[in-house]
Amino acid sequence: MSVTRHEPAVVFGDGRTDIRADFPVLSRTVDGIPLNYLDSAATSLKPQAVIDALVHYYTRVGGNIHRGKHMLSEEASHGFESARVHAARMLGVRAHEVIFTAGTTHGINLVALGLGLCAEDLVLVSSDSHHSHQLPWRHHARVEWIGVGPDGLVDLDQYAQLLRARPAAVALTHCSNVTGRHAPIAEMAALAHEVGAAVIVDAAQSAPHQRIDVPALGADALVFSAHKMLGPTGVGVLVLRPPLRDRLRTPIVGGGTVDWVDVDEVRLRNAPHRFEAGTPHIAGAYGLTAAIDYLEQIGWSEVTEHDRRMGRLLSNEAAQRDYLTVIGSADGERSGLISFAVHGLPDLTDLARVMSDSYGVMCRSGKHCAQPYVDSFGLGQVLRLSAYVYTTEEDVQRAFTALDEAVPLIRG
Ligand code: PMP
Repeated sequence: MSVTRHEPAVVFGDGRTDIRADFPVLSRTVDGIPLNYLDSAATSLKPQAVIDALVHYYTRVGGNIHRGKHMLSEEASHGFESARVHAARMLGVRAHEVIFTAGTTHGINLVALGLGLCAEDLVLVSSDSHHSHQLPWRHHARVEWIGVGPDGLVDLDQYAQLLRARPAAVALTHCSNVTGRHAPIAEMAALAHEVGAAVIVDAAQSAPHQRIDVPALGADALVFSAHKMLGPTGVGVLVLRPPLRDRLRTPIVGGGTVDWVDVDEVRLRNAPHRFEAGTPHIAGAYGLTAAIDYLEQIGWSEVTEHDRRMGRLLSNEAAQRDYLTVIGSADGERSGLISFAVHGLPDLTDLARVMSDSYGVMCRSGKHCAQPYVDSFGLGQVLRLSAYVYTTEEDVQRAFTALDEAVPLIRG
């Protein structure tokens, strides 16, 4: 395959267009072929600025947070808390509503445990949910499924019917990691609040691509992971808004969560600290700050516009190929990710391997941790291509050209 120059992916607010040069992994090649990273929904690549922020913490700061009065501890505490302020500003909430977690999965489990649910309590869960947003609810409560059709859209009439059973909570997915389709969260949250249900939103696939205004969405809790939005692995955000924040139990306790401990009494600290037991991922918080700064430098409207442009391109390219069936339909707006079944290939492991090793295209095959929804199509495994700010139109076109060649080869 010939090596061609990439056009800029997005343009920085200051006019800089060499964004791909910021991502060291993109300088790699696969047998001389430029790397084509289309697995950003699994995790994004990291710009040098984020890597530098982690290195800065470990090489220049190193102290623990909120534990000592020495200079390095105070510096670390300041760095950690400024990440909280950064995240809060981005999300339109107060800093004490931001809780640092290990990631989306951890945040959802904290809420599911903290609600103190019993087996009879009802939780409504979107049927296209990631396993991380269904298993915690299935573990602690009785689950009914909010229908998501083959077009990837929520069945709002059925949802309204389900709400009549007065669920304790609704677990909604802002953007599906299988279809790239969005749910109308604000509308669904308003309906849930009418029956007193808490609204927990999985924003793992939306937060990387748009500036989320949590109060406008109406979420009582909202979760995402830094690693899908240019940040490090092992750090995530749980936004907890009152009144849910104040009635949520603290499921994990330990150092950092208490104001006072004697042999008779334990006094828990206020949020966010009572939800952050033990030494957190301090370097991760530094990295998250750098990631948010980087996205803000590009500009959120540019990030979102690029995402939707990638979504349209992915849809158009897939729709032109009669050997593919798009999950969630090729029509309508989607985030920059698409999943499709390949006719005659229910197992896509070999195809994904060939795409990687022969064409340099990194993409994901399988059920994408949303097995019930993917299985409902009865088409076996699906292949997912997912873009981010560094992805160019040429990357997407190259991936489809590679598929055109590789699929007949695998089918034999
Ligand atoms: N929800 C969605 C929609 C996701 O895409 C993912 C990651 N694939 C998760 C939850 C879980 O995120 P994490 O592994 O970072 O906890």
